[in-house]
Amino acid sequence: MSMLSQWLRKAELLLAPPLTRCLICGKNSKGSSPLPEVCSNCAVTIPWIQVPRCTTCGRHVGCPDCTRSNEPTPLICNRSAVAYNEVMRELIGQYKYRGNERYTLLLGLMLDRAYGLLKAEQERERQVQLKGQKRNTLFSYLGYKGEDTWRADLLVPVPVSGARLVERGFNQAERLGHVLSSCRGIPQLALLLRTHHTGKQSFKSRAERLSDMKHAFAIDPGMKDRFAGWLQTRLNPNAPLRIIIVDDIYTTGSTIRACAEPLQRLADECGVAVEIRSLTLARS
Ligand SMILES: [Zn+2]
Ligand SMILES: [Zn+2]
Repeated sequence: MSMLSQWLRKAELLLAPPLTRCLICGKNSKGSSPLPEVCSNCAVTIPWIQVPRCTTCGRHVGCPDCTRSNEPTPLICNRSAVAYNEVMRELIGQYKYRGNERYTLLLGLMLDRAYGLLKAEQERERQVQLKGQKRNTLFSYLGYKGEDTWRADLLVPVPVSGARLVERGFNQAERLGHVLSSCRGIPQLALLLRTHHTGKQSFKSRAERLSDMKHAFAIDPGMKDRFAGWLQTRLNPNAPLRIIIVDDIYTTGSTIRACAEPLQRLADECGVAVEIRSLTLARS
């Protein structure tokens, strides 16, 4: 190839919209889709959860789980980006088990969309509260505005076990959290680790398994100082600390609830009020 044709080829590549292989159907397409590396045909098949039916766990369908269990938990609510269907199972599987990094941005942006909806929901609630207050108090006369924009303070990924980390080479929740953290400018701290509750799960009773799960996570001792240091830098130290636990899939919620407990205890130890919510990619 002559120099000129080489140059023309490069110029062509720069000018033409790149052909990308869709992560869902595998076909090449010109990128005009709203999602990175997904063709516009497949983008419309993503099962977004626009408005959750269950306001506790963010489920898109009627939810007996949350009405049945009365167990107290520090977790206020979960929101998920999408329903866990066949397409999502395949995408998450490719991402998680084959370590395909091309998926990180796509899935991270999906999580970011869920964050946007949670934020909007919290801001609407705040507006409703303010309207109620206006009728009853002098707040409106005093020009009290409160907080118009809702914002989380900290992201905490659900940890994977040391063995999984060696096997996969990465923590999928932490990577998703990293995308969200970059999009929104919210710091992420990996405060939790998995404790070692080994032994054959199959020999255990349901109660034993539940109790194991309850103690499956703890604060990483090495992170305590970093957390305390970070607390000092908060702009609004009197507001409750808003923590979002990040994970890929929400099934029964027992993992997320088990993560919420040590976080609540840590906040108690540090003397700060805390609001713990979770954001997950898919709700099964
Ligand atoms: Zn496609
Ligand atoms: Zn629910």
